[in-house]
Amino acid sequence: MSEDQRRSALVVGAGLAGLTAATGLTARGFDVTVLEARDRVGGRTRGIEAAPGTWVDAGAAYLGDQHTELAALLAESGLKTTPTTMLGASRFALRTGTPDGGEDEAATRDGRFPPLNAVALGDLFDRLAELTAAVRPQSPWLTPDAERLDALTAAEWADRHLSHPDARLFFPLFLGEMCAADPADISVLHLAFYLRSGGGLRYLNAFAGGAQQDRVDGGAHQLCERLAERLGDRVRLGEQVRAVHQDDRAVTARTDRGAYRADVAVVALPPLLADAIAYRPALPAPRAGGRSARGCAVKVHLVYPAPLWRDHGLSGWSVNARGPLLSTVDDSPAAGVGVLTGFVTGAEAHRFAALTARQQRAEALAQAARLFPMLPEPSGFHVTDWLNDPFSQGCYAALMGPGDWTRLGPTLTEPHRRVHWAGTETSTAYFGLMEGAIRSGHRVVAEILDRP
Ligand SMILES: Cc1cc2nc3c(=O)[nH]c(=O)nc-3n(C[C@H](O)[C@H](O)[C@H](O)COP(=O)(O)OP(=O)(O)OC[C@H]3O[C@@H](n4cnc5c(N)ncnc54)[C@H](O)[C@@H]3O)c2cc1C
Repeated sequence: MSEDQRRSALVVGAGLAGLTAATGLTARGFDVTVLEARDRVGGRTRGIEAAPGTWVDAGAAYLGDQHTELAALLAESGLKTTPTTMLGASRFALRTGTPDGGEDEAATRDGRFPPLNAVALGDLFDRLAELTAAVRPQSPWLTPDAERLDALTAAEWADRHLSHPDARLFFPLFLGEMCAADPADISVLHLAFYLRSGGGLRYLNAFAGGAQQDRVDGGAHQLCERLAERLGDRVRLGEQVRAVHQDDRAVTARTDRGAYRADVAVVALPPLLADAIAYRPALPAPRAGGRSARGCAVKVHLVYPAPLWRDHGLSGWSVNARGPLLSTVDDSPAAGVGVLTGFVTGAEAHRFAALTARQQRAEALAQAARLFPMLPEPSGFHVTDWLNDPFSQGCYAALMGPGDWTRLGPTLTEPHRRVHWAGTETSTAYFGLMEGAIRSGHRVVAEILDRP
Protein backbone atom coordinates (compact mmCIF):
# COMPACT_ATOMS: atom_id res chain seq x y z
CA MET A 1 0.00 0.00 0.00
CA SER A 2 1.49 3.39 -0.96
CA GLU A 3 1.44 6.40 1.38
CA ASP A 4 -1.39 7.92 -0.72
CA GLN A 5 -3.55 4.84 -0.35
CA ARG A 6 -2.87 4.45 3.35
CA ARG A 7 -6.12 4.65 5.29
CA SER A 8 -6.33 6.57 8.53
CA ALA A 9 -8.33 6.05 11.72
CA LEU A 10 -9.09 8.02 14.86
CA VAL A 11 -9.72 6.09 18.04
CA VAL A 12 -11.52 7.92 20.84
CA GLY A 13 -10.66 6.45 24.27
CA ALA A 14 -7.51 4.63 25.40
CA GLY A 15 -9.13 1.91 27.50
CA LEU A 16 -8.75 -1.77 26.63
CA ALA A 17 -11.28 -1.52 23.78
CA GLY A 18 -9.75 1.55 22.13
CA LEU A 19 -6.18 0.34 22.47
CA THR A 20 -7.06 -3.12 21.13
CA ALA A 21 -8.73 -1.50 18.13
CA ALA A 22 -5.80 0.89 17.61
CA THR A 23 -3.30 -1.99 17.75
CA GLY A 24 -5.31 -4.06 15.28
CA LEU A 25 -5.73 -1.19 12.83
CA THR A 26 -2.05 -0.22 13.06
CA ALA A 27 -1.08 -3.83 12.33
CA ARG A 28 -3.21 -3.67 9.18
CA GLY A 29 -1.47 -0.57 7.88
CA PHE A 30 -3.79 2.18 9.11
CA ASP A 31 -2.38 5.51 10.18
CA VAL A 32 -3.89 5.65 13.69
CA THR A 33 -4.34 8.46 16.23
CA VAL A 34 -5.74 7.65 19.67
CA LEU A 35 -7.36 10.54 21.54
CA GLU A 36 -7.64 10.04 25.30
CA ALA A 37 -9.25 12.54 27.67
CA ARG A 38 -7.28 11.61 30.79
CA ASP A 39 -3.60 12.06 31.44
CA ARG A 40 -3.20 8.28 31.57
CA VAL A 41 -4.27 5.28 29.51
CA GLY A 42 -6.27 2.35 30.89
CA GLY A 43 -9.73 3.80 31.56
CA ARG A 44 -11.48 1.49 33.99
CA THR A 45 -8.25 -0.42 34.62
CA ARG A 46 -6.07 1.53 36.99
CA GLY A 47 -3.21 0.66 39.30
CA ILE A 48 -2.45 2.33 42.59
CA GLU A 49 0.72 1.84 44.59
CA ALA A 50 -0.66 0.50 47.86
CA ALA A 51 2.79 0.17 49.42
CA PRO A 52 6.21 0.95 47.93
CA GLY A 53 6.56 -1.34 44.90
CA THR A 54 3.16 -3.02 45.43
CA TRP A 55 0.47 -2.17 42.92
CA VAL A 56 -3.17 -3.07 43.40
CA ASP A 57 -6.16 -2.80 41.11
CA ALA A 58 -8.28 0.24 41.81
CA GLY A 59 -10.37 -0.77 38.79
CA ALA A 60 -10.80 -4.11 37.04
CA ALA A 61 -8.98 -6.98 38.72
CA TYR A 62 -10.32 -10.50 38.16
CA LEU A 63 -10.38 -12.92 35.30
CA GLY A 64 -11.24 -16.54 34.61
CA ASP A 65 -10.42 -19.24 32.08
CA GLN A 66 -13.32 -18.29 29.78
CA HIS A 67 -11.63 -14.93 29.18
CA THR A 68 -9.66 -16.22 26.22
CA GLU A 69 -8.94 -12.92 24.43
CA LEU A 70 -7.72 -11.42 27.69
CA ALA A 71 -5.48 -14.45 28.25
CA ALA A 72 -4.05 -14.03 24.73
CA LEU A 73 -3.34 -10.35 25.35
CA LEU A 74 -1.69 -11.13 28.68
CA ALA A 75 0.55 -13.67 26.97
CA GLU A 76 1.46 -11.23 24.17
CA SER A 77 2.22 -8.57 26.77
CA GLY A 78 4.42 -10.89 28.82
CA LEU A 79 2.20 -10.52 31.90
CA LYS A 80 1.48 -13.27 34.41
CA THR A 81 -1.51 -13.98 36.64
CA THR A 82 -1.77 -14.95 40.28
CA PRO A 83 -4.66 -16.96 41.78
CA THR A 84 -7.12 -15.05 43.96
CA THR A 85 -6.68 -16.60 47.40
CA MET A 86 -9.86 -17.94 48.94
CA LEU A 87 -8.60 -20.38 51.56
CA GLY A 88 -10.11 -20.31 55.02
CA ALA A 89 -13.39 -19.29 56.56
CA SER A 90 -15.60 -16.34 55.58
CA ARG A 91 -17.12 -13.64 57.75
CA PHE A 92 -20.77 -12.66 57.42
CA ALA A 93 -22.57 -9.75 59.07
CA LEU A 94 -25.98 -10.25 57.55
CA ARG A 95 -28.41 -9.41 60.31
CA THR A 96 -29.26 -5.76 60.32
CA GLY A 97 -28.60 -4.97 63.96
CA THR A 98 -29.67 -5.96 67.46
CA PRO A 99 -33.01 -4.84 68.95
CA ASP A 100 -31.22 -2.11 70.97
CA GLY A 101 -29.87 -0.61 67.73
CA GLY A 102 -26.38 -2.09 68.09
CA GLU A 103 -24.41 -3.99 65.44
CA ASP A 104 -24.74 -7.75 65.23
CA GLU A 105 -21.59 -9.80 65.70
CA ALA A 106 -20.20 -11.15 62.45
CA ALA A 107 -20.47 -14.93 62.04
CA THR A 108 -17.60 -17.10 60.84
CA ARG A 109 -18.48 -19.83 58.37
CA ASP A 110 -16.57 -22.29 56.20
CA GLY A 111 -16.95 -21.60 52.49
CA ARG A 112 -18.76 -18.71 50.85
CA PHE A 113 -22.42 -19.71 51.26
CA PRO A 114 -24.02 -17.15 53.54
CA PRO A 115 -25.69 -18.20 56.81
CA LEU A 116 -29.17 -17.45 55.49
CA ASN A 117 -32.11 -19.70 54.72
CA ALA A 118 -30.68 -22.14 52.17
CA VAL A 119 -34.07 -22.98 50.65
CA ALA A 120 -34.89 -19.28 50.12
CA LEU A 121 -31.52 -18.60 48.50
CA GLY A 122 -31.82 -21.80 46.43
CA ASP A 123 -35.19 -20.55 45.17
CA LEU A 124 -33.68 -17.14 44.33
CA PHE A 125 -30.85 -18.73 42.34
CA ASP A 126 -33.27 -21.10 40.55
CA ARG A 127 -35.40 -18.14 39.47
CA LEU A 128 -32.36 -16.23 38.26
CA ALA A 129 -31.09 -19.29 36.40
CA GLU A 130 -34.47 -19.62 34.66
CA LEU A 131 -34.38 -15.97 33.53
CA THR A 132 -30.77 -16.35 32.42
CA ALA A 133 -31.47 -19.49 30.38
CA ALA A 134 -34.32 -17.78 28.50
CA VAL A 135 -32.39 -14.69 27.37
CA ARG A 136 -31.01 -14.44 23.81
CA PRO A 137 -27.39 -13.57 24.53
CA GLN A 138 -26.48 -12.16 21.08
CA SER A 139 -29.63 -10.04 20.87
CA PRO A 140 -31.34 -9.67 24.24
CA TRP A 141 -34.00 -7.42 22.68
CA LEU A 142 -35.26 -10.50 20.78
CA THR A 143 -35.69 -12.58 23.96
CA PRO A 144 -39.19 -14.02 24.27
CA ASP A 145 -41.22 -11.55 26.34
CA ALA A 146 -38.42 -8.96 26.01
CA GLU A 147 -40.74 -5.93 26.25
CA ARG A 148 -42.16 -7.03 29.59
CA LEU A 149 -38.78 -8.06 31.05
CA ASP A 150 -37.24 -4.79 29.87
CA ALA A 151 -40.01 -2.68 31.40
CA LEU A 152 -39.58 -4.22 34.86
CA THR A 153 -36.79 -3.20 37.24
CA ALA A 154 -34.94 -5.87 39.21
CA ALA A 155 -36.32 -4.23 42.37
CA GLU A 156 -39.90 -4.64 41.14
CA TRP A 157 -39.16 -8.23 40.16
CA ALA A 158 -37.79 -8.95 43.66
CA ASP A 159 -40.91 -7.41 45.24
CA ARG A 160 -43.11 -9.71 43.20
CA HIS A 161 -41.13 -12.94 43.39
CA LEU A 162 -39.08 -13.03 46.57
CA SER A 163 -41.20 -13.63 49.63
CA HIS A 164 -38.59 -14.87 52.12
CA PRO A 165 -36.82 -12.05 54.02
CA ASP A 166 -33.45 -13.74 53.56
CA ALA A 167 -33.82 -13.78 49.76
CA ARG A 168 -34.91 -10.12 49.84
CA LEU A 169 -31.91 -9.26 52.00
CA PHE A 170 -29.42 -11.13 49.85
CA PHE A 171 -30.66 -10.07 46.38
CA PRO A 172 -29.32 -6.46 46.43
CA LEU A 173 -26.02 -7.66 47.90
CA PHE A 174 -25.70 -10.21 45.12
CA LEU A 175 -26.48 -7.60 42.46
CA GLY A 176 -24.01 -5.18 44.00
CA GLU A 177 -21.31 -7.81 43.86
CA MET A 178 -22.15 -9.06 40.36
CA CYS A 179 -22.74 -5.81 38.49
CA ALA A 180 -22.40 -2.91 40.98
CA ALA A 181 -26.09 -2.21 40.52
CA ASP A 182 -28.87 -0.99 42.72
CA PRO A 183 -31.84 -3.27 41.82
CA ALA A 184 -33.93 -0.14 41.14
CA ASP A 185 -31.51 0.86 38.35
CA ILE A 186 -31.55 -2.14 36.03
CA SER A 187 -34.20 -3.96 34.06
CA VAL A 188 -34.79 -7.66 34.57
CA LEU A 189 -33.79 -8.15 30.93
CA HIS A 190 -30.42 -6.53 31.65
CA LEU A 191 -29.91 -8.63 34.77
CA ALA A 192 -30.65 -11.87 32.86
CA PHE A 193 -28.49 -10.77 29.91
CA TYR A 194 -25.59 -9.70 32.15
CA LEU A 195 -25.51 -13.06 33.94
CA ARG A 196 -25.72 -14.97 30.65
CA SER A 197 -23.18 -12.79 28.87
CA GLY A 198 -20.66 -13.30 31.67
CA GLY A 199 -20.82 -17.12 31.47
CA GLY A 200 -23.80 -17.78 33.76
CA LEU A 201 -24.56 -17.17 37.39
CA ARG A 202 -22.26 -19.83 38.82
CA TYR A 203 -19.29 -18.87 36.68
CA LEU A 204 -19.66 -15.14 37.33
CA ASN A 205 -19.98 -15.67 41.06
CA ALA A 206 -17.11 -18.16 41.49
CA PHE A 207 -13.48 -17.63 42.40
CA ALA A 208 -11.70 -20.98 41.68
CA GLY A 209 -13.09 -22.17 38.32
CA GLY A 210 -14.96 -18.90 37.79
CA ALA A 211 -14.64 -15.29 36.71
CA GLN A 212 -12.65 -14.27 39.82
CA GLN A 213 -10.11 -17.09 39.61
CA ASP A 214 -7.03 -14.96 38.90
CA ARG A 215 -5.61 -11.45 38.97
CA VAL A 216 -2.90 -9.89 36.87
CA ASP A 217 0.42 -9.86 38.72
CA GLY A 218 1.23 -6.21 39.40
CA GLY A 219 -2.17 -4.98 38.19
CA ALA A 220 -4.44 -5.17 35.13
CA HIS A 221 -3.58 -1.57 34.16
CA GLN A 222 -0.28 -2.86 32.79
CA LEU A 223 -2.14 -4.35 29.83
CA CYS A 224 -3.06 -0.90 28.57
CA GLU A 225 0.35 0.50 29.41
CA ARG A 226 2.00 -2.19 27.28
CA LEU A 227 -0.40 -1.63 24.38
CA ALA A 228 0.18 2.13 24.57
CA GLU A 229 3.95 1.69 24.69
CA ARG A 230 3.81 -0.18 21.40
CA LEU A 231 1.56 2.46 19.84
CA GLY A 232 4.02 5.17 20.93
CA ASP A 233 3.20 8.75 19.95
CA ARG A 234 0.03 7.65 18.15
CA VAL A 235 -1.57 7.93 21.63
CA ARG A 236 -2.36 11.51 22.63
CA LEU A 237 -3.31 12.15 26.27
CA GLY A 238 -5.35 15.08 27.61
CA GLU A 239 -7.48 15.17 24.45
CA GLN A 240 -11.14 15.04 25.41
CA VAL A 241 -13.16 14.68 22.23
CA ARG A 242 -16.11 17.04 22.29
CA ALA A 243 -17.38 16.84 18.72
CA VAL A 244 -17.24 14.39 15.83
CA HIS A 245 -18.17 15.78 12.43
CA GLN A 246 -18.16 13.90 9.15
CA ASP A 247 -18.90 14.39 5.49
CA ASP A 248 -18.53 12.24 2.40
CA ARG A 249 -14.74 12.44 2.48
CA ALA A 250 -13.59 12.30 6.12
CA VAL A 251 -14.39 12.37 9.80
CA THR A 252 -13.03 15.06 12.16
CA ALA A 253 -12.76 14.84 15.95
CA ARG A 254 -12.46 18.12 17.85
CA THR A 255 -10.79 18.51 21.23
CA ASP A 256 -9.83 21.66 23.13
CA ARG A 257 -6.38 21.41 21.55
CA GLY A 258 -7.20 20.82 17.94
CA ALA A 259 -9.00 18.97 15.19
CA TYR A 260 -8.00 15.51 13.94
CA ARG A 261 -9.11 14.18 10.57
CA ALA A 262 -9.21 10.61 9.27
CA ASP A 263 -11.09 8.20 7.02
CA VAL A 264 -12.86 6.46 9.90
CA ALA A 265 -13.30 6.83 13.66
CA VAL A 266 -13.82 4.37 16.49
CA VAL A 267 -15.60 5.71 19.55
CA ALA A 268 -14.58 3.35 22.37
CA LEU A 269 -16.37 4.91 25.34
CA PRO A 270 -19.04 3.91 27.84
CA PRO A 271 -22.49 4.83 26.42
CA LEU A 272 -23.16 7.86 28.64
CA LEU A 273 -19.83 9.38 27.55
CA ALA A 274 -20.29 8.45 23.88
CA ASP A 275 -23.62 10.30 24.02
CA ALA A 276 -21.97 13.43 25.48
CA ILE A 277 -20.09 14.02 22.19
CA ALA A 278 -21.75 16.34 19.65
CA TYR A 279 -22.13 14.47 16.35
CA ARG A 280 -22.72 16.09 12.96
CA PRO A 281 -24.76 14.71 11.30
CA ALA A 282 -26.62 13.79 14.46
CA LEU A 283 -26.85 10.16 15.54
CA PRO A 284 -29.99 8.43 14.30
CA ALA A 285 -30.32 6.73 17.72
CA PRO A 286 -28.77 7.64 21.08
CA ARG A 287 -26.04 5.52 22.69
CA ALA A 288 -27.70 5.68 26.15
CA GLY A 289 -31.32 5.82 27.23
CA GLY A 290 -33.09 8.15 29.62
CA ARG A 291 -32.78 5.52 32.34
CA SER A 292 -29.27 4.22 31.58
CA ALA A 293 -27.42 4.58 34.86
CA ARG A 294 -23.88 4.70 36.14
CA GLY A 295 -22.63 1.47 37.69
CA CYS A 296 -22.23 2.13 41.41
CA ALA A 297 -18.82 1.07 42.67
CA VAL A 298 -16.35 2.59 45.09
CA LYS A 299 -13.29 0.44 45.87
CA VAL A 300 -11.56 0.67 49.23
CA HIS A 301 -8.11 -0.79 49.86
CA LEU A 302 -6.87 -1.56 53.37
CA VAL A 303 -3.17 -2.37 53.54
CA TYR A 304 -1.59 -4.41 56.37
CA PRO A 305 1.98 -5.53 57.01
CA ALA A 306 0.97 -9.06 55.86
CA PRO A 307 -2.28 -10.99 55.15
CA LEU A 308 -2.68 -11.47 58.91
CA TRP A 309 -6.26 -12.81 58.70
CA ARG A 310 -4.86 -16.01 57.15
CA ASP A 311 -3.09 -16.80 60.46
CA HIS A 312 -6.55 -16.89 62.02
CA GLY A 313 -7.99 -19.32 59.46
CA LEU A 314 -9.85 -16.56 57.61
CA SER A 315 -9.92 -16.01 53.85
CA GLY A 316 -10.54 -12.26 54.07
CA TRP A 317 -13.89 -12.78 52.30
CA SER A 318 -16.85 -11.19 53.99
CA VAL A 319 -20.41 -10.26 53.02
CA ASN A 320 -22.23 -7.60 54.97
CA ALA A 321 -25.79 -6.30 54.99
CA ARG A 322 -24.61 -2.88 56.14
CA GLY A 323 -22.05 -0.72 54.48
CA PRO A 324 -19.84 0.74 53.66
CA LEU A 325 -17.91 -2.47 52.93
CA LEU A 326 -20.63 -4.75 51.55
CA SER A 327 -18.00 -7.34 50.77
CA THR A 328 -14.27 -7.75 51.29
CA VAL A 329 -11.75 -9.94 49.49
CA ASP A 330 -8.08 -10.79 49.92
CA ASP A 331 -6.22 -9.07 47.08
CA SER A 332 -2.76 -9.46 48.60
CA PRO A 333 0.20 -9.81 46.26
CA ALA A 334 2.00 -13.17 46.20
CA ALA A 335 4.50 -11.87 48.78
CA GLY A 336 4.78 -8.91 51.10
CA VAL A 337 1.93 -6.76 52.39
CA GLY A 338 -1.64 -7.90 52.96
CA VAL A 339 -4.37 -6.14 51.00
CA LEU A 340 -8.07 -6.34 51.75
CA THR A 341 -10.29 -4.84 49.07
CA GLY A 342 -13.67 -3.57 50.21
CA PHE A 343 -16.47 -3.17 47.67
CA VAL A 344 -18.99 -0.40 48.24
CA THR A 345 -21.71 -0.92 45.67
CA GLY A 346 -25.30 -0.12 44.71
CA ALA A 347 -27.16 2.56 46.69
CA GLU A 348 -24.50 2.42 49.42
CA ALA A 349 -21.89 3.66 46.94
CA HIS A 350 -23.86 6.91 46.51
CA ARG A 351 -24.04 7.45 50.27
CA PHE A 352 -20.37 6.63 50.87
CA ALA A 353 -19.11 8.69 47.94
CA ALA A 354 -20.82 11.77 49.39
CA LEU A 355 -18.92 11.52 52.74
CA THR A 356 -15.75 13.45 53.50
CA ALA A 357 -12.45 11.57 53.26
CA ARG A 358 -12.22 11.57 57.05
CA GLN A 359 -15.72 10.09 57.43
CA GLN A 360 -15.00 7.45 54.78
CA ARG A 361 -11.86 6.38 56.61
CA ALA A 362 -13.58 6.31 60.00
CA GLU A 363 -16.52 4.22 58.74
CA ALA A 364 -14.42 1.76 56.74
CA LEU A 365 -11.89 1.23 59.54
CA ALA A 366 -14.60 0.75 62.17
CA GLN A 367 -16.27 -1.88 60.01
CA ALA A 368 -12.99 -3.65 59.24
CA ALA A 369 -12.27 -3.76 62.99
CA ARG A 370 -15.66 -5.38 63.66
CA LEU A 371 -15.19 -7.93 60.87
CA PHE A 372 -11.54 -8.72 61.58
CA PRO A 373 -10.90 -7.75 65.22
CA MET A 374 -7.49 -9.41 65.17
CA LEU A 375 -6.10 -6.89 62.67
CA PRO A 376 -4.14 -3.79 63.61
CA GLU A 377 -5.07 -0.42 62.12
CA PRO A 378 -4.12 -0.59 58.43
CA SER A 379 -0.89 1.07 57.36
CA GLY A 380 -2.43 2.18 54.07
CA PHE A 381 -5.95 3.26 53.14
CA HIS A 382 -7.17 4.17 49.64
CA VAL A 383 -10.59 5.03 48.28
CA THR A 384 -11.31 5.02 44.53
CA ASP A 385 -14.65 6.58 43.63
CA TRP A 386 -15.68 5.48 40.13
CA LEU A 387 -19.21 6.75 40.49
CA ASN A 388 -18.17 10.40 40.26
CA ASP A 389 -15.26 9.93 37.87
CA PRO A 390 -16.11 12.17 34.91
CA PHE A 391 -14.35 9.93 32.38
CA SER A 392 -15.95 6.67 33.51
CA GLN A 393 -19.29 7.79 34.91
CA GLY A 394 -19.69 4.68 36.97
CA CYS A 395 -18.41 1.12 37.02
CA TYR A 396 -18.01 -1.77 36.56
CA ALA A 397 -20.10 -0.92 33.50
CA ALA A 398 -23.12 1.11 32.40
CA LEU A 399 -26.40 -0.14 33.82
CA MET A 400 -29.10 -0.70 31.24
CA GLY A 401 -32.32 0.59 32.79
CA PRO A 402 -35.93 -0.10 31.87
CA GLY A 403 -36.49 0.15 28.13
CA ASP A 404 -32.79 0.41 27.24
CA TRP A 405 -32.19 -2.98 25.66
CA THR A 406 -35.31 -3.01 23.52
CA ARG A 407 -34.70 0.57 22.38
CA LEU A 408 -30.91 0.78 22.09
CA GLY A 409 -29.92 -2.85 21.55
CA PRO A 410 -30.68 -3.10 17.81
CA THR A 411 -28.26 -0.22 16.99
CA LEU A 412 -25.60 -1.15 19.56
CA THR A 413 -22.86 -1.78 17.00
CA GLU A 414 -24.36 -0.23 13.85
CA PRO A 415 -21.84 2.28 12.44
CA HIS A 416 -22.93 5.88 12.02
CA ARG A 417 -21.45 6.36 8.52
CA ARG A 418 -17.68 6.67 9.21
CA VAL A 419 -18.05 6.28 12.99
CA HIS A 420 -17.80 2.79 14.51
CA TRP A 421 -18.50 1.79 18.10
CA ALA A 422 -16.42 -0.18 20.58
CA GLY A 423 -16.21 -0.54 24.35
CA THR A 424 -17.24 -3.32 26.70
CA GLU A 425 -20.84 -2.15 26.59
CA THR A 426 -20.99 -2.94 22.85
CA SER A 427 -20.00 -6.57 23.41
CA THR A 428 -22.78 -9.07 23.94
CA ALA A 429 -20.15 -11.57 25.15
CA TYR A 430 -18.72 -10.71 28.56
CA PHE A 431 -20.47 -7.33 28.59
CA GLY A 432 -19.00 -5.09 31.27
CA LEU A 433 -15.78 -7.06 31.62
CA MET A 434 -12.24 -6.61 30.30
CA GLU A 435 -12.89 -9.60 28.01
CA GLY A 436 -15.88 -7.80 26.47
CA ALA A 437 -13.80 -4.65 25.92
CA ILE A 438 -11.06 -6.58 24.07
CA ARG A 439 -13.59 -8.51 21.99
CA SER A 440 -15.27 -5.24 21.00
CA GLY A 441 -11.87 -3.94 19.85
CA HIS A 442 -11.36 -6.99 17.61
CA ARG A 443 -14.91 -6.77 16.27
CA VAL A 444 -14.54 -3.13 15.28
CA VAL A 445 -11.28 -3.80 13.41
CA ALA A 446 -12.97 -6.55 11.37
CA GLU A 447 -15.90 -4.19 10.71
CA ILE A 448 -13.60 -1.42 9.42
CA LEU A 449 -11.65 -3.83 7.21
CA ASP A 450 -14.98 -4.90 5.70
CA ARG A 451 -15.98 -1.36 4.78
CA PRO A 452 -16.46 -0.95 1.04
C1 LIG B 1 -14.00 -0.97 40.28
C2 LIG B 1 -14.04 -1.80 39.03
C3 LIG B 1 -13.98 -3.16 39.11
C4 LIG B 1 -14.02 -3.93 37.95
N1 LIG B 1 -13.83 -5.26 38.06
C5 LIG B 1 -13.63 -6.00 36.94
C6 LIG B 1 -13.11 -7.30 37.02
O1 LIG B 1 -12.79 -7.77 38.11
N2 LIG B 1 -12.96 -8.00 35.86
C7 LIG B 1 -13.25 -7.47 34.64
O2 LIG B 1 -13.06 -8.16 33.62
N3 LIG B 1 -13.72 -6.21 34.53
C8 LIG B 1 -13.90 -5.46 35.65
N4 LIG B 1 -14.27 -4.15 35.55
C9 LIG B 1 -14.74 -3.64 34.24
C10 LIG B 1 -13.58 -3.30 33.28
O3 LIG B 1 -12.71 -2.41 33.88
C11 LIG B 1 -14.17 -2.69 32.01
O4 LIG B 1 -15.10 -3.56 31.41
C12 LIG B 1 -13.13 -2.38 30.92
O5 LIG B 1 -11.93 -1.90 31.46
C13 LIG B 1 -13.75 -1.35 29.96
O6 LIG B 1 -12.86 -1.00 28.94
P1 LIG B 1 -13.34 -0.03 27.78
O7 LIG B 1 -12.17 0.20 26.92
O8 LIG B 1 -14.59 -0.54 27.19
O9 LIG B 1 -13.75 1.32 28.51
P2 LIG B 1 -12.87 2.38 29.46
O10 LIG B 1 -11.87 1.56 30.17
O11 LIG B 1 -13.89 3.10 30.20
O12 LIG B 1 -12.16 3.27 28.38
C14 LIG B 1 -12.72 4.44 27.85
C15 LIG B 1 -11.65 5.51 27.77
O13 LIG B 1 -12.19 6.65 27.14
C16 LIG B 1 -11.74 7.81 27.80
N5 LIG B 1 -12.69 8.89 27.51
C17 LIG B 1 -13.90 9.13 28.06
N6 LIG B 1 -14.51 10.16 27.45
C18 LIG B 1 -13.66 10.60 26.47
C19 LIG B 1 -13.72 11.61 25.46
N7 LIG B 1 -14.79 12.38 25.29
N8 LIG B 1 -12.65 11.79 24.65
C20 LIG B 1 -11.54 11.00 24.77
N9 LIG B 1 -11.44 10.00 25.68
C21 LIG B 1 -12.49 9.80 26.51
C22 LIG B 1 -11.67 7.41 29.26
O14 LIG B 1 -10.81 8.24 29.97
C23 LIG B 1 -11.16 5.98 29.13
O15 LIG B 1 -9.75 5.93 29.16
C24 LIG B 1 -14.21 -3.34 36.68
C25 LIG B 1 -14.27 -1.94 36.60
C26 LIG B 1 -14.15 -1.19 37.77
C27 LIG B 1 -14.07 0.29 37.65
